[in-house]
Amino acid sequence: MTARVLDGKALAAQVKLEVAARVATLRARGVTPGLAVVLVGDDPASAVYVRSKTKDARECGIDAGDHRLPADVSQAVLQALVTRLAADPAVHGILVQLPLPKHLDPDQVIDAIPPHKDVDGLHPDNLGRLAQGRARFVACTPQGCMRLLGLAGVELAGASAVVIGRSVLVGRPAALLLTNASATVTLCHSRTHDLSEIVAAAEIVIAAVGRAELIRGAWIRPGATVIDVGINRTADGKLIGDVEYAAAAERAAAITPVPGGVGPMTRACLLENTVTAAEGEP
Ligand code: NAP
Repeated sequence: MTARVLDGKALAAQVKLEVAARVATLRARGVTPGLAVVLVGDDPASAVYVRSKTKDARECGIDAGDHRLPADVSQAVLQALVTRLAADPAVHGILVQLPLPKHLDPDQVIDAIPPHKDVDGLHPDNLGRLAQGRARFVACTPQGCMRLLGLAGVELAGASAVVIGRSVLVGRPAALLLTNASATVTLCHSRTHDLSEIVAAAEIVIAAVGRAELIRGAWIRPGATVIDVGINRTADGKLIGDVEYAAAAERAAAITPVPGGVGPMTRACLLENTVTAAEGEP
């Protein structure tokens, strides 16, 4: 079997068109959706992410601004910026690019974002709502994973799913989304015993670890759907995922490539969340 490749780039382009149409409707009513992206320090990867997020947003007609603070900024100054953005009626969505420098507490910053402007879905109110099965804003990467599962056409209800990685940003919300969709979910992490056996039993695999090719192709159940969130840079500068792609593609029914799978959909889901925020509380 050779897996169908789930083209996140093409799906994201479609989502962007839909977002642009919703933005046009809002603008006709005199509302310009506003997105504020906060970047602390000069981590090159974070700077690239922020640039691409604001560029995508502007292409859809969203008024996107980035707010840069030096790496040694104090917690108080960062909090003051977020509080100012929280009160600004022209800003509908606020995203603080993570990770923050070590001396800053991300939880305090996220708590200061009003839940109805939390387009990254990280505020405890939004994560709590997701856990209760009444989600408002859901973190963009797991939401992108769900859209890619939708593209694969896989039946989620009753399916056995494994999520590898339990971060608040990706793995945990992905497991909650799958649970809410009636999949039977196993959430794995660095302390999990017998990972290969758990993966081998799963009809759906979401890998969000950050370890190049940790998930071996031979573990994949024939006919499974594989969503690879991982982004790992090899010594020769190539990007590869958490799944051993070529071998996994021999067994899976559908698989996301890295790059070109989850990444573009993460960006597209941020645009969707932003326009939803501007349309009024969902
Ligand atoms: P993270 O916060 O570092 O979490 C990694 C998770 O993997 C943790 O739960 C950790 O377990 C688990 N883990 C580590 N080693 C393991 C092992 N040997 N076996 C099983 N589980 C293991 O990372 P993250 O923010 O979730 O990101 C994960 C990956 O996705 C990274 O490569 C990141 O770059 C990528 N990412 C991609 C996108 C995108 O748009 N494509 C967006 C976000 C992240 P413990 O909890 O026990 O430590």
